[in-house]
Amino acid sequence: MPIPMTKQKTFLKYLIVASISSYAFFSPTQKVLARDAPQPNHTLTTQEAVNRAYNNYKSTTDGSNASYIPYLEKANKKLYGIVIVTIDGKIFKAGDSDYSFPVESISKVFTLAHVLKIQGAKNLQNKIGVNATGLPFNSALAIELNNDKLTGSPPPGNPLVNAGAIATASLVEGKSFEEKWNTVIKTASAFAGHPLSLNKDVYDSEMADNQHNLAIAILLKSYNYLYADSTETIDLYTRECSYNITAKDLAVMGATLANGGNNPLTHQNVVDEETSMRVLAVMATAGLYNTSGEWLYNVGLPATSGVGGGIMAVVPGKMAIAVYSSPLDPAGNSVRGQLAIQSIAHDLGISIFKKK
Ligand code: GLU
Repeated sequence: MPIPMTKQKTFLKYLIVASISSYAFFSPTQKVLARDAPQPNHTLTTQEAVNRAYNNYKSTTDGSNASYIPYLEKANKKLYGIVIVTIDGKIFKAGDSDYSFPVESISKVFTLAHVLKIQGAKNLQNKIGVNATGLPFNSALAIELNNDKLTGSPPPGNPLVNAGAIATASLVEGKSFEEKWNTVIKTASAFAGHPLSLNKDVYDSEMADNQHNLAIAILLKSYNYLYADSTETIDLYTRECSYNITAKDLAVMGATLANGGNNPLTHQNVVDEETSMRVLAVMATAGLYNTSGEWLYNVGLPATSGVGGGIMAVVPGKMAIAVYSSPLDPAGNSVRGQLAIQSIAHDLGISIFKKK
């Protein structure tokens, strides 16, 4: 349904306030990774490295739950799970590996994989963009700064910040809303290797207070960078962020990307290898939003995170490491998640920048 002009103006006014408040919400980044990386222990087995990371950070209480989504604010901060899945299907885990939590922004990666497969690499680059924005994940200002009239880049920025993920969701094909949603959830389920389902409470909680994302969609539409109706796209995007997953699901999903798009447990080819490689490239550039550079510098792995507390890092050709822990740093990334993955990556000596 088209949004009347007067309503659009109200949203654009809201947008200016929201741009400023997104800065206030995400105050200057605390250096989660720079502070207390333990000495790597290269003698550890994979399970021992998982145990070490679990035990080292079990009592870490830093960070806070996402407060702008009421459902997430109530999450139990004590829950903490780590899972590794290798490309030959081996599983290593510790803690709350089977606890279900909302996927949030990690879902952007799987919708991206689908849209990339359908649209092709060039279209994605021209219609969405693949540059780091250097700004918070929900920045409306980045749309203006990326305006192609100024920089030659398309305003959505990249498919992992909200603007780009909303534009990506608007490219999901389907005759009806239900058909589009089915495509999104089926793609994610194929990555996880079993049917995933919507968490209706999270969806309702986000839909009740979604003005910021709607404002982003309307602004994109004004620049002709939203490819479907704004209200319908925001509904689809919000559903996409609201399905439940576990740390184990996430590790399987990541291992599918590590394995060139083939799910190591079901052996289904979910996407082709080229799509998988490009998704990982976008994750390396922007998966941890405005701290992606520091993450890559300290950990050396493409990763993606959600304000639900999940984080997933991929070691191409080897494995994925996934963590659930709800308290976040100011950029919106799980504190224990980052510390645990860093510790495991250092102990196992894995980085995409390593000689072998
Ligand atoms: N649904 C959340 C939002 O749009 C996702 C944010 C995130 O996980 O980083 O604000």
